[in-house]
Amino acid sequence: MQSQTFSGFALSGPILAAVQREGYTTPTDIQASAIPPLLEGRDLLGTAQTGTGKTAAFVLPLLDRLMKERADLPAGAADVRPDRGRSDRGRPGPARPRALILAPTRELAIQIDQSISGYGAGCGISHTVVFGGAPKPTQASKLRSRPQILTATPGRLMDFIGERLIDLSQVEILILDEADRMLDMGFIPTVRQIAAMADRRNQTVLFSATMPREIEGLAQELLKNPQRIAIAPKEMTVEKIRQSVLYMDKEHKGTMLPQLIRDRGMFRVIVFTRTKHRASRIATMLGKEKIPSDSIHGDRSQNQRQRALESFRRGRIQVLVATDVAARGIDVDDVTHVINFEIPNE
Ligand code: AMP
Repeated sequence: MQSQTFSGFALSGPILAAVQREGYTTPTDIQASAIPPLLEGRDLLGTAQTGTGKTAAFVLPLLDRLMKERADLPAGAADVRPDRGRSDRGRPGPARPRALILAPTRELAIQIDQSISGYGAGCGISHTVVFGGAPKPTQASKLRSRPQILTATPGRLMDFIGERLIDLSQVEILILDEADRMLDMGFIPTVRQIAAMADRRNQTVLFSATMPREIEGLAQELLKNPQRIAIAPKEMTVEKIRQSVLYMDKEHKGTMLPQLIRDRGMFRVIVFTRTKHRASRIATMLGKEKIPSDSIHGDRSQNQRQRALESFRRGRIQVLVATDVAARGIDVDDVTHVINFEIPNE
């Protein structure tokens, strides 16, 4: 039923080239199911988790559409549409993106924007990302370059809208990623407000790892006759991953952890903790044991979080200690072990 190669999709040349550059040979299940309806301009409701190739599933058709629309415009027409370009007094007006991607966490937003850089190299589509916990001026100056695709976390997006640096009236495509996590974080009222501002859109996409009633309700409000896709979570439990449980008293965990990491030769490890405080303490403790470590959680600045993640990606630290909220959706290659220091919340 589905195309087994990317060239089977009606994607533009530069996008197919990007896919090839990334080394992807076959579309993942979510890509095979989502790309064709998205290319047709349909709304989509997808149950899928991070790790399924979901980002490319929505970014590739998005880039394709923006490229094709540009090709359809007469030369020079892109900048003369009403409300585009400069405001009445000649000052630069707010950024008026044509596509908006909402993500719950800063890391995920940054990661999506990086994927757009990768998949969109050679497409000439401008894009940027705004998220909380980082200084505004750098993000504000990137908004002045008139991004066509904006990726954002809800709170910072609302701040910039309030400051008249972003205007959503030209948004044609709205993508909500990890909607259930936005629900957990209390963002749904804000998401509704944002969707109401993007009222001229003609394509809406919603992805969620789970489909609680509130998200079903939101989907019914925001999506028109959506294509429904569910990628079963069972595919997330990769058989190659061995799982084991260690029973011990709470007070022994601290001494056991460094021992376990050393004895088993674990070299790229994520340790999940339930609290921010414990994440910091464990990273410091491992550091004292000469196991290079850092932590990411909600009490650290965005700079610290990004630095820790980057050091982990580049192998400069061996262990990343994280709370599950901060780490949701993180994509790092070649992780050798994941340790849940406590029984996880989810
Ligand atoms: P995502 O679910 O979007 O976070 O993607 C998870 C990982 O899968 C990322 O590292 C992607 O680079 C990778 N990926 C996405 N699509 C494909 C594909 N068709 N073939 C191989 N890897 C892919």
